Amino acid sequence: MGYYDIHTHQMPFHKEDIAIINRSVNPMGDIQPGSLPDTFIRSYGIHPWYIYNAKEQIDRLRVLAYGPRVVAIGEAGLDPLAESPVNLQKEVFLAQANLAEETHKPLIIHCVKAWGDLIACKKAVKPEVPWIIHGFRGNSELASQLVRLGFYLSFGDRFNPSALCVAWPDSLFLETDDKSIDIREVYRNVAEALDIPEEKLRIQIAKNSSIFRLKGYL
Ligand SMILES: [Zn+2]
Repeated sequence: MGYYDIHTHQMPFHKEDIAIINRSVNPMGDIQPGSLPDTFIRSYGIHPWYIYNAKEQIDRLRVLAYGPRVVAIGEAGLDPLAESPVNLQKEVFLAQANLAEETHKPLIIHCVKAWGDLIACKKAVKPEVPWIIHGFRGNSELASQLVRLGFYLSFGDRFNPSALCVAWPDSLFLETDDKSIDIREVYRNVAEALDIPEEKLRIQIAKNSSIFRLKGYL
């Protein structure tokens, strides 16, 4: 059984590990550079930092989203620190949320200091597909609120241990994102923080990962 990395920008360190490699759709509607062999599973999305040409980007994403080995939409999100206006970010986020519904693929979310807006979007969309907040570093209060609303939380190299306990077992995912680290290192740190054997963590994350419908690709 491999280790699952649900959000990364690089190839896995071990070929038996399962990585969902993220590529964003760039302003001109092309794909972010970085070779991605055909055999790899991936997610495509429009990152809130790089919205310049929303219509073209959404049109391009719509085509990509239906492609083979595309197992999730995103990262999509809300980030007041990004250059693009918040209203445009919301519009692009909702377009991606609707595309996730249409394609029946989970949505991977980048959210910075926009929790109220994100929660309002979820209440508006009422998604059937899972919504996963990636790179979660919030505290246990925020984690509890989000988990109660049905969000999944994905943790990487830095995290708040008390939030981990809230997401464990059923709402938890692990990732390396843009860090040049081995996903197995994240598993080790998280198993230690949860005070559980690593094997137990592996079994649970493999079970949670069934939401991605990876059968046929592994
Ligand atoms: Zn990322």
